[in-house]
Amino acid sequence: MAMNQITDHIYLGSYTALSGQKSFGEKGITHILSLLSGEVAPSITPFGGQSGTALYETFTRGYTTLRIDIDDVEDENIMQYFDQTNKFISEAISSGGIVFVHCMAGVSRSTTAVCAYLMKDNFWSASEALDFVKSKRSVANPNESFYKQLEVYYQCAYQVSESHPVYRQWLLQSQAEDSKYTRLAPKAIYASSPPPSLIPVESQESYKSIPELLRRLGNADGAKNWNNYRLVSGNHVWELTETPSQPVTELRDISNSESDPIPITQDALTGTTSDFKCRKCRSVLSTSAFSIPHQPPEGVSGQQCAFFMEPLKWMKPELEKGELEGKLACPKCDSKVGAYHWQGSKCVCGTWVTPAICLQRAKIDQVVRRYNRAKA
Ligand SMILES: [Zn+2]
Ligand SMILES: [Zn+2]
Repeated sequence: MAMNQITDHIYLGSYTALSGQKSFGEKGITHILSLLSGEVAPSITPFGGQSGTALYETFTRGYTTLRIDIDDVEDENIMQYFDQTNKFISEAISSGGIVFVHCMAGVSRSTTAVCAYLMKDNFWSASEALDFVKSKRSVANPNESFYKQLEVYYQCAYQVSESHPVYRQWLLQSQAEDSKYTRLAPKAIYASSPPPSLIPVESQESYKSIPELLRRLGNADGAKNWNNYRLVSGNHVWELTETPSQPVTELRDISNSESDPIPITQDALTGTTSDFKCRKCRSVLSTSAFSIPHQPPEGVSGQQCAFFMEPLKWMKPELEKGELEGKLACPKCDSKVGAYHWQGSKCVCGTWVTPAICLQRAKIDQVVRRYNRAKA
């Protein structure tokens, strides 16, 4: 099938549908979103003699177009275009238009773009969006990495930003996977300072409702009315920023427009945070906001596991040497506290972790604290 109608305003199909264009007029198509790489091969069209690009221009003349240059390969980051493609689709629809979204076969790249739009528009998960698209176009089938990226998109609550830990860690991990083939050290993305609002305080009494709420949310699997919660603590009013059925990832302090939202992380759900301190000089080298968890094999305790981290600013001089692996020294007392292996390494529990930026348990003290928001 060259093309299928997905919604009232979206068609999804192949390049052949674009080159044929037989029914574009009667379908009312006004906008074309193309996900194609480089020079479009002229050989797949019945038109000889013209370059693929010239043909593409002929086919799309008179339409409003957006072309994203992307291959249907697993190491492409397609998520980075979602803001752009979603904006194009929603502007087309709000102007009363009808969009044709296509790639070469109308199977992987274009399906991914349509799913991303439907997810954000309906607050759907990746599987909800793909099931819907497949019910209209059965060949729809994003490659494995693109599907994974749709899942990450959901976990980020449809925010593709390096300030979101889920996206940042996905980027880091995919770059580290690449480094296995390229043998080049990835360019590290350094985590910013810990979420500014999560400052441990001595007394948790007056603010204890926030972690309580978060714990409740953590247990409320499938809860759809999270945005009905509004929380007052001290002089602050907190609101969950997302809408119903959208995964809640942040709390926003709506009484203070200057404040940064608090990402709801594993820490937030348990109401604790950990500092990782150099055993020798006691300086804080990291916090649990930056740790990358891994699962020890079944039956193996994680008690002896190393602490795996995101790249942190104090590691910069070492990580920017461009090496694939090396040692990490405490920036204050220079004692060896860990090591990094961009291509991954094995934890003592036997689990392979990529990338492996780790602090050794023997050199680090983990200090667990309950957190709460500091008084303004
Ligand atoms: Zn030290
Ligand atoms: Zn381990």
